[in-house]
Amino acid sequence: MTTLLAYPNVSEGRDPEVIARIGAAFGPGLLDVHSDPDHHRSAYTLAGAPGELAGAVLSGAAAAVDLIAIDPHAGVVHDTPNMTGWNEVPAARMLSERVGCPVVICHDAAAAGYAELKAGAGRGARHLLFITVSTGIGGALFIGGDLYDGATGSAGEVGHTPITDEGPACGQGHPGCLEGIASGTAIAARAHAELAAGAASSLRGMDLASIDARAITTAANEGDELSLRLFNDAGHALGRAIGGFINVLAPDAIVIGGGLINAGDLLLAPARHAVTQIAFAIPASRCRIVTAALGTDAGLIGAVAWAVRSFSGRPVAEL
Ligand SMILES: [Zn+2]
Repeated sequence: MTTLLAYPNVSEGRDPEVIARIGAAFGPGLLDVHSDPDHHRSAYTLAGAPGELAGAVLSGAAAAVDLIAIDPHAGVVHDTPNMTGWNEVPAARMLSERVGCPVVICHDAAAAGYAELKAGAGRGARHLLFITVSTGIGGALFIGGDLYDGATGSAGEVGHTPITDEGPACGQGHPGCLEGIASGTAIAARAHAELAAGAASSLRGMDLASIDARAITTAANEGDELSLRLFNDAGHALGRAIGGFINVLAPDAIVIGGGLINAGDLLLAPARHAVTQIAFAIPASRCRIVTAALGTDAGLIGAVAWAVRSFSGRPVAEL
């Protein structure tokens, strides 16, 4: 797979710096795509769209950023807890002025999910739920092949599904939500707490700052019981949530992405088992639960596909 544009890191910084980084990546990047025949082909392969869409991509860009509250139609970021200073930022207009073409914005999970729907593990699904399990847990819902973002542009926040009354709070302060139990951050925090309480583990003796989800994955694969238990609990919570989503939505596919899928069956085996405890048999049997196919490029690919969708006036699948 060819990476066409540098994917700007938008997880830090105040809005003018981030806008500048995104704009710098988009401006010359889009021109390169359209001046190089090989890149033409790569672009459309990645976006899952045919070559006739050159004009659509050239005349519009989509930016996928890590946002909680946005108005995708007005192009305004209302608020995000993860980036300092992003309050009521007219991101689409700012980017448009910088890159010289119309810009739409969308949630990064929506962009990644759209990429998986059009060109990745969710290809062919009509109704798809995308879940990204990483430092946090996000998601996006696609109904009838298109994004469902609700009345406020914020739908799809599957990470904040309630699991227990007594679980730890997530980064947004919700007690017992999925993200507070099954995210990489949550798994690491629980390891730290259990080690502090005296639990036996091969993690003991490691520098506390280096005990993250990746280190716990390695320890679990080497048979460390604490690490195995943490992944089992996280996978169980994820599976209970997924079972509930299947009951409500009856999707064709649930695609799970994010860094924690590198843990493989450590996370997914208990999740699949828990799904069977919650979900009705028929919708569960007709919903494929698969891991994402496009890796860290999914957000970028989805942003290109989202620009095509937004500026061509027709869904990619119809072109
Ligand atoms: Zn939460």
